[in-house]
Amino acid sequence: MGVTIGHIFDLTVKKYPHREALYDVRKNKRLTYKEWQDEVDALANAFLAAGVKKGDLISTYLFNTGELATAYFACAKIGAVFNPINFRLTSEETAFILEDAQPKIVLFEEATQPVIASIENRFPHISFWFIDERTPAFAQNYYDKKALAPSAPVSIEVNETDLYAIMYTSGTTGRPKGVMHSHRDMAEQSLLCITATGITSKDRGLITAPMFHCAELHCAFLPRVHAGASSVVLHQFNPRKVLQLIESEKISILFAAPTMWNMMLQENLSEYDVSSLRLGLYGAAPMAPALVRTCREKLGADLVQAYGMTEMGPAITFLSNDDQIRKAGSAGQAALNHDIRIVKPNEEGPSEPDDILPPYEPGEIIVQGPCMMKGYYKREEAAQKALYKGWYHSGDIGYLDEDGFLYVKDRVDDMIISGGENIYPREVEDTLYEHEGVLDAAVIGEPHDRWGESVTAIVVKKNDALTEEELDEFCKSSSRLANFKRPRRYVFVDVLPRNASGKVLKFQLRKELETIYSDRY
Ligand code: ATP
Repeated sequence: MGVTIGHIFDLTVKKYPHREALYDVRKNKRLTYKEWQDEVDALANAFLAAGVKKGDLISTYLFNTGELATAYFACAKIGAVFNPINFRLTSEETAFILEDAQPKIVLFEEATQPVIASIENRFPHISFWFIDERTPAFAQNYYDKKALAPSAPVSIEVNETDLYAIMYTSGTTGRPKGVMHSHRDMAEQSLLCITATGITSKDRGLITAPMFHCAELHCAFLPRVHAGASSVVLHQFNPRKVLQLIESEKISILFAAPTMWNMMLQENLSEYDVSSLRLGLYGAAPMAPALVRTCREKLGADLVQAYGMTEMGPAITFLSNDDQIRKAGSAGQAALNHDIRIVKPNEEGPSEPDDILPPYEPGEIIVQGPCMMKGYYKREEAAQKALYKGWYHSGDIGYLDEDGFLYVKDRVDDMIISGGENIYPREVEDTLYEHEGVLDAAVIGEPHDRWGESVTAIVVKKNDALTEEELDEFCKSSSRLANFKRPRRYVFVDVLPRNASGKVLKFQLRKELETIYSDRY
């Protein structure tokens, strides 16, 4: 048996039955751990009654909801595989995942109904369960199903090595791939996140980043349940609502992607009492050091950064609060039981794990750890490449300093090569964020007749006053930016395209620029 996610849940309930576990803001519903366990068991029984067997997939196409949280543990208890789908995907993207995953049941809601309604007839073998009122004709009602199911606790034997979750990558580097994790992977991930953030049963966390993403689900939510802390579920991120909830619900711990922190910092913080917040966790995408500084100053809370990827569970390094200034710009040190190497990139195939580079020399980040994926669902070849010689090859470029702190420079695919020089867009972006008139920035390479590529900055201004000349002067005067890294062109936009975990969609930016400036391409 070992430590399964269902077992972790039941042990917490045993310890803290009467403590508040979950508050779903949208439905204004509060549950103690014992009440939540009854809901989890009822749903697990409803899944069994619907014919779900060990190893079958259950997908959720939900925003952040109590029902998603309940399904997470109900799947664990019956050995079903939990598969949360990104609610921002289009109909075709969602259909691609359903085709690939072949779940038995899909949970959906009012807000995601239009997409499901447009594709459900292609999946006659899937049962669609609706969690709101006015259930559409093609679907079943989640609450009716639960009410009819037997109420006794389930007794299915689940082992820690059994598959527990399939999380699809967001596909920023190709078609989404289903990343497979066992119960044990997630239990280990939870433990190392508890250690890095010091979560205790007294903490109260706010779920605001999407729960279909591993950062919120496995680095923030699961560790809280593991530790007996409580969670407030916010349907969708809204900076003001988050600040109000921190005040009214006395939130002590919050994970948010850098773009979310940025939006919160644009609000008038003096209007809110955020003194209950003891820890802000950030990660899933790079956060410019200038933004980290502002966050520390304005929030007055400790900060911890996590760096990682779905394939690793996700967190593989943490930057502690104490190191935020001393090691600014770093993603921190290897998480417990993780081994990180920087190796010479290989253009022909996967990098060789023994081609280790010395401190400060950038190369591909490869890693081994206890939460490493079991493979990509139905994509054996891609998994073999990614896990070459037992190391996960991240596709990120970075270096280690002499103290073992990791600095993530960029994705291999985003690196710009101009006049034979390697330029990491992140370094240029970090410099732009130092300018007080810049709200958001992304840097990409554009084709250039002489240099191969040239540096272009796409900038969202804080106010209209900012000009291209001013930014160029700023970059010229910055001691951090060599002349060849300086953007040769600035494009001002209203908003940058980002995915749900806050990453800028650079392929989309490249495509948009290609259409506007077709003569260069
Ligand atoms: P795909 O693999 O399809 O491109 P994805 O980008 O969504 O999907 P994730 O697992 O969500 O994959 O993200 C992993 C990547 O996010 C890392 O490889 C890294 O580039 C970036 N990342 C995550 N955390 C950080 C961080 N703290 N600092 C910088 N980059 C980060």
